[in-house]
Amino acid sequence: MRTYILMWNPAISSVKMDEFENYIIDPTQELNWSVWDYEDLDFEDRFFLVRVGEGNTGIVMSGTFVSLPWQGEDWSGKGREVFYADLDAESIFHPDREPIITTAQLQEAIPDFDWTDGHSGRVLTDEQAQKLEALYMDFILQRYAAYGEVDDFYDIETPNAYISSNALYPNAHLQEYLHRTRGESCELCGYNYQEKFGADNPHHNDYILIGNALDGLSLKDFHCLCRSCREMERDSAITEKLRHS
Ligand SMILES: [Zn+2]
Repeated sequence: MRTYILMWNPAISSVKMDEFENYIIDPTQELNWSVWDYEDLDFEDRFFLVRVGEGNTGIVMSGTFVSLPWQGEDWSGKGREVFYADLDAESIFHPDREPIITTAQLQEAIPDFDWTDGHSGRVLTDEQAQKLEALYMDFILQRYAAYGEVDDFYDIETPNAYISSNALYPNAHLQEYLHRTRGESCELCGYNYQEKFGADNPHHNDYILIGNALDGLSLKDFHCLCRSCREMERDSAITEKLRHS
């Protein structure tokens, strides 16, 4: 899975702010975007759309590609060879009406990428992608906490954004980041597949979210559990232990 950074400058883009707002109201509309590094793009690759230029800049959309790249007319009218891919949004954020991950936050977390300018559709390195998923998940979890009434983590509708349930499962990038930065030991029983069977073994412990939106959620609410402990994860006493650890 690759991660692409798409750029959007409403002042010069063929997609203006009112079109973006229409898309927020009805995210089932078809949407595609130009991709510079299109050669290796595949179905299910990840994208983040970053608003650049004037105003509140930063991440305004996340999701996955749902087509292979296809050549289309140059959106700028300059007659260049331009490739596009179809998007499926997971989350959409209105840059003027709600908090977004800002350009400053992106630059601080991943300084070796140009978040202010450049072609739309550049690929991140694995490490950059992992850091971005960590930043993004922390942001999503804080948003859930901000809405306050969440007793079930699925299918949350918010006034200006929608967040699909899969946003709360760590994807491959975030899993790798958590494993790399926090290790692989089960937090309940201490078992570590990697230690016992080596790095190439097909089994591993998973990071899962255990927490309550009312308490405020963040990345630290992901806990590493082995398969057997995961079975017991719904047990309230164990959940309590992890929540307060
Ligand atoms: Zn365990």
